[in-house]
Amino acid sequence: MQGSPATRDFRLSYSRLQSFKNCKAQYRFHYLDKLPEEGTSIEAYLGRRLHEVLEWLYAPGEGSPKPAFDAVLGRFRRLWAQHWDDKIMIARSGWVTADYYQLGQRALAAYYRRHAPFDEPVEAVEQKISFTLEGAPHLAVVAIIDRLDREAPGHWVINDYKSGKRMLTEAKSRNDMQMQIYFLALHAHHEGIRRIDVIWHYLQHNQQVALTDVQWNPERLTGALIRKGNALIEAENDPDGLAPTESPLCGWCHYWHVCPAKVGQTHPARRAD
Ligand code: SF4
Repeated sequence: MQGSPATRDFRLSYSRLQSFKNCKAQYRFHYLDKLPEEGTSIEAYLGRRLHEVLEWLYAPGEGSPKPAFDAVLGRFRRLWAQHWDDKIMIARSGWVTADYYQLGQRALAAYYRRHAPFDEPVEAVEQKISFTLEGAPHLAVVAIIDRLDREAPGHWVINDYKSGKRMLTEAKSRNDMQMQIYFLALHAHHEGIRRIDVIWHYLQHNQQVALTDVQWNPERLTGALIRKGNALIEAENDPDGLAPTESPLCGWCHYWHVCPAKVGQTHPARRAD
């Protein structure tokens, strides 16, 4: 890594922070060495397809009435087939491809029942916002918001779709860094904000967790994010210190083949068919 926190642009995102937190060796392989990943987890594959369907369903200009459920299901099935390749892997014991395919369809059916006729006041879908942090122009933050609704002038609702098993409690959601980054992104891009609500849609559980009128302090969040960004930059100055952290997540890691902690071991994931 070249440069220092004060002299180089550094692209900061929630996924980058999360990767660093999970395993520093994996972080190094992905963000520093830029090694190609070997395989795609079927959970990530399913998540992408669900996001694509919901993006399409809510896209401005899709018209009214919104598609019938059969059309939504048809879209999911087409996307699933179109993108399928032989690099998709299953790590979860006892699960087969059909289980994920069914899970995706059940999640969409439940979402459809709960949210039809989809008349939320959608402002944007998959909105990418790039911004810098006050006092840290070297940190270029990137946020992609699944769906942004505008309930009223100055009243925004950030929606995030979760396709995985893990669900945050409301208490933990109050400290969720991903949503806090989105909150800062909105503040960087919009004037006259009066209120921001956030909603996590847990698709496979057909549940949602919502926080209304979040009272996060932008200055405090900015300070915390700058510290985290600078910590990444410092760590990158000593790449040899980015050591493996073995955990159950290794089963979903696509750098197993180059990981010093896994030399000589067979990856537990198997090819999906
Ligand atoms: S296999 Fe495990 S320890 Fe190795 S890089 Fe991946 S997550 Fe880290």
